[in-house]
Amino acid sequence: MSLVIGNLKLRNNKKYMKASFRYKGIHSCEAVVLSCIDFRFWKETVEFVEKELGIKTFDFPSLPGSAKAINESDDETFVFGCISVPVELHHAQKIVIINHEDCGAYGGSKKFGEDKEAERKFHEGELQKAKEKVLVKYPDKEIVSVYAKLDENKENVEFIRIN
Ligand SMILES: [Zn+2]
Repeated sequence: MSLVIGNLKLRNNKKYMKASFRYKGIHSCEAVVLSCIDFRFWKETVEFVEKELGIKTFDFPSLPGSAKAINESDDETFVFGCISVPVELHHAQKIVIINHEDCGAYGGSKKFGEDKEAERKFHEGELQKAKEKVLVKYPDKEIVSVYAKLDENKENVEFIRIN
């Protein structure tokens, strides 16, 4: 299958690229991983999910603030679609929700006066709220809540399971 990208010129003057498709005939995945859109965290998040949680197949929706989108949503059809499509169409059994430190959707670390402990506690509360809201709709699913924090020098991301 070719991925056709309009009139965009790709490298070497090509107009398309071809990539191998690894899931022929497969329509189920293990989990849905909801994370923030933040470019600083998502690649490491994928690595964490694959290597540490051991989940190989997952849908990966991103919304600003992750748990925030669930907690503050009035329109459940859109936000919950990010979870309900993986669960109902792709039979995902696990729902992983990942919030992160210095999340712009929440006002960043500066909103907490750089008090990392207060920030972590706040995100734990947000993740708990989101978990409860999702469990109302999917009581038989396993919810995994994770907080991605930065180390002291802001050179590493540490993923902490909070339940
Ligand atoms: Zn964020």
